[in-house]
Amino acid sequence: MQLSCVKIGLRSRILGYDNPFMSMEKQKNERRISRSRVAILRVLSKSLRPLSAVEIGERIHAFGQSFNKTTIYREMEKLKLDGEVKEFFLRNDCALYERNRAHHHHIVCVSCNVVRDIYACTVSNEEKRIAEQEHFDIIDHSFEIFGLCKKCR
Ligand SMILES: [Zn+2]
Ligand SMILES: [Zn+2]
Repeated sequence: MQLSCVKIGLRSRILGYDNPFMSMEKQKNERRISRSRVAILRVLSKSLRPLSAVEIGERIHAFGQSFNKTTIYREMEKLKLDGEVKEFFLRNDCALYERNRAHHHHIVCVSCNVVRDIYACTVSNEEKRIAEQEHFDIIDHSFEIFGLCKKCR
């Protein structure tokens, strides 16, 4: 986590200098994308729960910055590929995003939508068995538990 923050800081600093091999427009574009990247990561790091792309946009706005939807979605895709951010889906089909921390799962209240992290993973062992049985190279798994929280039940 610490390391990646340093990396991003460096990258945005490097992008701040004029690069003679890049057109002005491309440079501007790169800088804008880089700013959106930093903004997204900051919002996700500060959040106590996973956020949808719309919520990320709103929180960035609350910090006094603004990026169009396309920029945010494009940056989310890159952050996913770079392993900085994880995407997962709940029952309402809305993608949620969080910083890629240690492997964990979620328990979700279907009434108030509170999402909590569960760090015990019982799926990993089963995963190996299934991978052998189905001749699959498994990349990842997701496992969410739904129910009613203490306040809502
Ligand atoms: Zn609840
Ligand atoms: Zn797991």
